[in-house]
Amino acid sequence: MNLVFTGPPGAGKGTQAAMFHARHGAPHVSTGDMLREAVRDATDLGERASAYMRRGDLVPDELVDAIVRARLAREDCSSGFILDGYPRTLQQARVLGESLARDGRRLDAAVLFAIRDEVLLERLVGRRVCVRCGATYHLSHKRPRTAGRCDLDGMALELRKDDDAETVRHRVAVFRELTGPMVEYYRGEGLLLQVDAELPILKIYKEIRRFIDGRSPRSRGRARGVWAARLGAAPIG
Ligand code: AMP
Repeated sequence: MNLVFTGPPGAGKGTQAAMFHARHGAPHVSTGDMLREAVRDATDLGERASAYMRRGDLVPDELVDAIVRARLAREDCSSGFILDGYPRTLQQARVLGESLARDGRRLDAAVLFAIRDEVLLERLVGRRVCVRCGATYHLSHKRPRTAGRCDLDGMALELRKDDDAETVRHRVAVFRELTGPMVEYYRGEGLLLQVDAELPILKIYKEIRRFIDGRSPRSRGRARGVWAARLGAAPIG
């Protein structure tokens, strides 16, 4: 399955990507994670990207397009991938589409995570991230066993540099401003699924699965039977 997850920061794209990875094996390709790693390792890319990221602005397309192209060319993406946070603009979406087409691949779905701004703000300013492994926690909804320490490796938890209230507001505004045309592009291609990102995690997962199954002729029978019955809803497609 070749998926794009799009939505404002804090909408839960990473959580769903991790779930799809665990259940289906497709790698979780997060441009935000790749860029943060480059900044941490002080690579040339990291140095060029860091000022944009600190402000909550988008990193220039040519840098991001290049890292995604290189990542999707790797062996582990040959039978599927979940793109999280890319594309973010119409231009990036077109570049991705052309690059996949050149390789004889195409997307199965572009999932838009819809959520209210006030919910995002609350989620992001309470988010804490492990400095080493990147595992995420929340001060009120997902506390670590020991305050301030990662459950997985015991390392310190920190507020991401771009998760302070002012930068979060800016990141959300950037998303809302630039993403509309991209969403319309995917709607026109018949690939768009909008999910309510305030629903429980498992419900969102099932909705996405149902959409993918409904689009795939191979699994259409399965979608009609299993997923429609489980969800008690009309099948799609
Ligand atoms: P994220 O973790 O997805 O919220 O991304 C963190 C930051 O990385 C963003 O605020 C941007 O500065 C940068 N970034 C991530 N993905 C992209 C992208 N597709 N295009 C441009 N900048 C990006």
